[in-house]
Amino acid sequence: MPTQPTRLAVWLCVLVAFGAHPSAGTARAARDSTPKPAAARQLFEFHSDFWVNLHHFLYITARARQGLDVTRASTTRALADTEGFSKLTSSEQTEWQTAVAYYESKLARRDLIFDRDMVAIGNQLDHVASAAQLRKKQLDPMLVTTLEHAAPVYRRLWWPRHDAANKAWLKAVTPKLDLYGDDLAEQEIRVFREPWAPTPVRVDVVAYANWGGAYTTNYPSHIVVSSGDAGNQDDQALEVLFHEALHTLDDTLLSALRAAFRARGKPLPHDPTHVFIFYTAGALTHRALPDHVPYAEKYGLWERVPDFKRALPVLQQYWQPYLDGKSTFDEAVARYAAGAVRVNQLQGTLPAIDPRCTLSSQRTMGLGTLLHGLSSPS
Ligand SMILES: [Zn+2]
Repeated sequence: MPTQPTRLAVWLCVLVAFGAHPSAGTARAARDSTPKPAAARQLFEFHSDFWVNLHHFLYITARARQGLDVTRASTTRALADTEGFSKLTSSEQTEWQTAVAYYESKLARRDLIFDRDMVAIGNQLDHVASAAQLRKKQLDPMLVTTLEHAAPVYRRLWWPRHDAANKAWLKAVTPKLDLYGDDLAEQEIRVFREPWAPTPVRVDVVAYANWGGAYTTNYPSHIVVSSGDAGNQDDQALEVLFHEALHTLDDTLLSALRAAFRARGKPLPHDPTHVFIFYTAGALTHRALPDHVPYAEKYGLWERVPDFKRALPVLQQYWQPYLDGKSTFDEAVARYAAGAVRVNQLQGTLPAIDPRCTLSSQRTMGLGTLLHGLSSPS
């Protein structure tokens, strides 16, 4: 039986002297109002959690073995993470291979963001301090058994270095959060016109996240970010945190975009807020750190992804002035929609409504980082 894992709960004292949050109820209650001043409080709650890391490592390894995400280094690097495996006992090796096989057959082809059961698993594992607690969770008994059997092997071979890498990543990003976190959060809630979550947003730092290297689910707001992903290092770590945070703040923008496109008799483009999230997180991080090259620019996202390529000049023309305080939110959204319609009509490729837009609007799981994989350096 696994012993109780080491659990690191790092509470960053990133306090904000702004940032509205509802005094009662959920964030949804204040979504349509301009953020109001609130007491200073914490933005993120960071964890390097044994069970969350184990689950994600098994998931990513299983996906890689299934030949999924073969072009994504975020996934394929898991297959090379085998140092010391040959020194395990044959029994330990069998336990691990059995666990991976279970994930291959049951979970590997399910999405961490859009599959409600996977989201539920992620949230259940967030609050597990021991194997005994794991058994009390509302999880598939076979999954519980699999994790319990894999845990001693993971703890012996991988966990020390995964945990150390997570802590090192957190240690590296903490000074930047101390310096710039307050201001970035203040700008994000002002620009996206939404309050921060009523409680600190949980961030699970993991060796492996998903094929994109990071993702976000909502209700509750929950960010998972890989400490080992090449796109999450140095100044990019700050941007990725505030990029993911915007995934918890985009309901007002989504509603405004829907209304603006409807007013023009046009369908809402696929994943409409994600270009705003990439653009805004990159621009605000660059504003804080002038040498920082925004993620989408660094990895060629604006060039490689057709929807992004079409959106960039429209964002530069109509969203950037809003970021600079030269137009209002309503003006920026209306002008963006008109500009996007013009661009798409010129190119004759106005995207059809994607079912995921409906999912996005409901935000039952959040869009997370649907396109992050496209922006990965691999
Ligand atoms: Zn994203």
